[in-house]
Amino acid sequence: MEATEEEGKPVIRVTVPDPILGQRLELDADVLSLAAAVVPSAGTSDVAGLFKITLGQDGFFKEAHVKLRPVEFSADGVFLCGTAHYPKHIQETINQAYGAAGRALTLLSHDTVVASGSVCEVNEHDCISCGACITACSYDAIEFVDTPKGKKARVNPVLCKGDGVCNAKCPTNAIVLKHFTDEEIFSQIDAATEKTVHV
Ligand code: SF4
Ligand code: SF4
Repeated sequence: MEATEEEGKPVIRVTVPDPILGQRLELDADVLSLAAAVVPSAGTSDVAGLFKITLGQDGFFKEAHVKLRPVEFSADGVFLCGTAHYPKHIQETINQAYGAAGRALTLLSHDTVVASGSVCEVNEHDCISCGACITACSYDAIEFVDTPKGKKARVNPVLCKGDGVCNAKCPTNAIVLKHFTDEEIFSQIDAATEKTVHV
């Protein structure tokens, strides 16, 4: 930045890199207004860990889907708005807060929550308590419980999203994703690859 003259008029010349053009640009300004950088709050990553919610590359919270679920996270019942999301103007913050409150009220207005039937289930007989499934699950849906045969993994069907990550990790195939068992998948593959016989 430098104070200079353009056609006899005093101007402030600002030189900036343009990442798209790959060149440096010189801008002559009458007034230069500087703004402080906005950075995520110091406790953001702690909150993300507590609620199992995601952060973007810049450290702000990241919505579940930019168009389909812009005010909520992948974790159920957790919503976002304002500068926790990214730096934004007050009107956009207020509009987003209305949206988040509306989504929360939609959830609270029901007496019961309907969960998917396509969830995982542990066959405790085959579980060797290795914990691989618990580490793999992003939704905190599996925990160890004490049983007469020792510590065994158990899935909370309300929290389970049915993504099948845990059963891919289980060394003993003790976890089964309902409606997507090995037998069902193999049958589908067989049916899809079966040659049609014309008589
Ligand atoms: S990965 Fe399989 S064997 Fe290991 S704790 Fe989970 S259910 Fe049990
Ligand atoms: S299917 Fe996905 S969400 Fe459900 S328990 Fe397994 S890893 Fe967790």
